[in-house]
Amino acid sequence: MTNTNTGAGERLRPERRPRPARLMPVAQQRSLAGRYPLWVKGLSLLAFAWAFLGWLNEVWFYRFDNTLWLNRYTEYVIIVAFGLWRLAAEKNPYTRRRLTILVANVAVLWWLLPWAFPFIEPYVGYLSGLPVFPSLHTPGTLTFLLVLGAVFLFGRRVICGWNCPCVAIREVVGFPFRQADHLPRGKRAWRWRHLKWLWFALYLGAMVAMTRPANNVTAGYLGFFAMAVALPYFTTLLLSPWIGNRGYCRFLCPYGATFGLLNRVGMFRIDYDAVTCTKCGLCEKVCDMGIPVWTMGAARGKIDTTECMGCGRCVTECPAGSLAFRDVRNLPWPALRQDREHLRQRTDPGLAAPRRRAILYVLTLGAALAGGWHFSGLVGSGAELIDDLGVLCGLPISTW
Ligand code: SF4
Ligand code: SF4
Ligand code: SF4
Repeated sequence: MTNTNTGAGERLRPERRPRPARLMPVAQQRSLAGRYPLWVKGLSLLAFAWAFLGWLNEVWFYRFDNTLWLNRYTEYVIIVAFGLWRLAAEKNPYTRRRLTILVANVAVLWWLLPWAFPFIEPYVGYLSGLPVFPSLHTPGTLTFLLVLGAVFLFGRRVICGWNCPCVAIREVVGFPFRQADHLPRGKRAWRWRHLKWLWFALYLGAMVAMTRPANNVTAGYLGFFAMAVALPYFTTLLLSPWIGNRGYCRFLCPYGATFGLLNRVGMFRIDYDAVTCTKCGLCEKVCDMGIPVWTMGAARGKIDTTECMGCGRCVTECPAGSLAFRDVRNLPWPALRQDREHLRQRTDPGLAAPRRRAILYVLTLGAALAGGWHFSGLVGSGAELIDDLGVLCGLPISTW
């Protein structure tokens, strides 16, 4: 306490303390979940457990045959139900747009279409015993290549931002668990991201196994790989209160690792402007992937990491406008600055003429839809790709 003495006889009065600065500006509140009551978190955990049970019933218990509520589609039903709640609550216009497309993709491409037109195609763990619908062969291969090409051009956000059910359930159901203080952060947590390369190695092993004729060893390995992917996928949902809602994407997903590599060598990155950056740290707090955004930007002048799934939260919430996306669209339009104002659609109309924006939007969305179209999993597409290449090149490789 300090005193203000203005003259003899005047009472000493304590100096008025300045109000502590707000640690969390309003903009940050938009991208960081508020303090949710216990019952909301309980409901989210119940929904996670329900999705887990649906998967368990389909692959292990076999108790309920072909019901909507306890099979692989259960997860998608939950995403749509919670998605409506999230869309109503989301204040960030860019995130709301992204979530709308994400939930719509899951509803139509991952749930309704395969549910209405069930068919079987080869995917990992079920390769040897099931028939194939041959006409899916070429479309599967093409979409596989299209997805990889789209990731190279636009970044990992084509899948991880706009089109993956895993991220959808974590975004809409797991939202109450994404408070900054719940996320493992800092240097040690950042180092744990390398764990996913172990799963990536298993994935490569699965690709090799698929080039061999089906036998007990290859079928056993592929079954093991399927479990090594699916079990952590669901158990990390239940661990969300402790590891945040992106634990699987950050530390374990082999497909995220694949897309991340293309993210790194491709045309996507986030530009960082050191002159305007105030080092407020908001970008790091809103990043669910635990990326040290401005630290990396200050060191390299850009954020170009395998981890960035292009959600855009850091860009749209940076109060100084110091961050901006770049991708293939900057080749024909170098002046196109995909910054906070642009993503929120309050930018210079010269840069975002409606028609140009519509074309770019349709292109990006088309690539995302193509990814979702192949709803049985990229590993299945990989198998088809290997088959097709074997036939085209006359090589003795086949997944059958
Ligand atoms: S990291 Fe994996 S699980 Fe997460 S959004 Fe990307 S592809 Fe989906
Ligand atoms: S880039 Fe933006 S959000 Fe991040 S520290 Fe700088 S001013 Fe803050
Ligand atoms: S760095 Fe930005 S765009 Fe990338 S994942 Fe983090 S918040 Fe999203």
